[in-house]
Amino acid sequence: MRPTAILTDIEGTTSAIAFVKDTLFPYAASALDEFLAKRVNDPAVKEILAQVEELVPGEAPATALRQWMAADAKVTPLKTLQGLIWEEGYRSGALKSHTWPDVIDCLKAWSAGGLRLAVYSSGSVAAQKLLFGHSEAGDLTPLFSSFFDTRIGGKREAASYAAIAKALAVPAGEILFLSDVAEELDAAKASGLQVCQLVRAEDGTKPSGRHPEAKDFPAVTAQFGLPKAS
Ligand SMILES: [Mg+2]
Repeated sequence: MRPTAILTDIEGTTSAIAFVKDTLFPYAASALDEFLAKRVNDPAVKEILAQVEELVPGEAPATALRQWMAADAKVTPLKTLQGLIWEEGYRSGALKSHTWPDVIDCLKAWSAGGLRLAVYSSGSVAAQKLLFGHSEAGDLTPLFSSFFDTRIGGKREAASYAAIAKALAVPAGEILFLSDVAEELDAAKASGLQVCQLVRAEDGTKPSGRHPEAKDFPAVTAQFGLPKAS
């Protein structure tokens, strides 16, 4: 069945893994101390620090956050904080986002053709909106009806995809999930979603052989009969 909704990952799928690793993560790490000092009275920052203290009692929150950053830990308060730091960077113009050149035209064509578009990434929803809000083609956030992060569950857990289908009010079998990571596709498939692995040579993605594959978004369009970019 032709998908009526697209659920897409970001890193390695719409955007270069290198952008996150080489630009976003180092920026957040370098800005951490100054940001915490500057926003010490910000209720959102206080809430994040309280969550960190709950997870690692007795440790200085800044130390825990730095360790998580170094380990690329998928911890919700870290992701939320990184979102706030990047927000400031995007707004100041210090940061600009990356999407692969084939992505934007396809997203626009899919949306114009009536497909619902949603994002599911381990980066926070705030970070997702910043990334798509500051693309080379301007603000792409209006193309998406929903944004999901790890608050709905881990990306390698089948239950997360069932919860997303329910939140979208779309039958699981009508949703096509795009990701570069085979284990995420395994989990989505287990909940009945259609799946496709983006195998972008530039990102060094290795095909798993377990799922349909596409080298870019036009290849997804062709393989699943989606509305074509003109
Ligand atoms: Mg990915």
